[in-house]
Amino acid sequence: MPLPDDHLFTCGAGCGGIAVDAYGRAQPCLTLRAPELTMGVLDAPLAAALERFTELREMRAAHSDYLGRCARCFLRGLCEQCPAKSWSEHGTLDTPVDYLCEVAHAQARHLGWLRDGQLGWEGAEAGITARRLPKD
Ligand code: SF4
Repeated sequence: MPLPDDHLFTCGAGCGGIAVDAYGRAQPCLTLRAPELTMGVLDAPLAAALERFTELREMRAAHSDYLGRCARCFLRGLCEQCPAKSWSEHGTLDTPVDYLCEVAHAQARHLGWLRDGQLGWEGAEAGITARRLPKD
């Protein structure tokens, strides 16, 4: 069970690669178009964008649902929840997307990681741990 983690970006965004749209705006990944995280690069060096995007690694979540659920959830490695999906669905970077949460829980139940009614963020209390799957 991982310790609670309020880091927003646990993916590869801001780690050496960027996307640039047709209007010359750099963004840290293909799907994250939050204006506050994009940067014009027509008149600025790409290196400036790369350096700025490395700062994403330090961004922390503040939304209470994220802190109460995602930051404590052992399904984070399985789940598609990310700042880009939150921004697309809610206009914020840290609001959990419920349908992604439901998909991750359905997958975890199918894999035998959770029983019916158990939730990924209640793992510590319930003593849930991801098990090694049986070999075929
Ligand atoms: S399964 Fe739900 S609580 Fe866990 S990381 Fe995904 S969205 Fe967050």
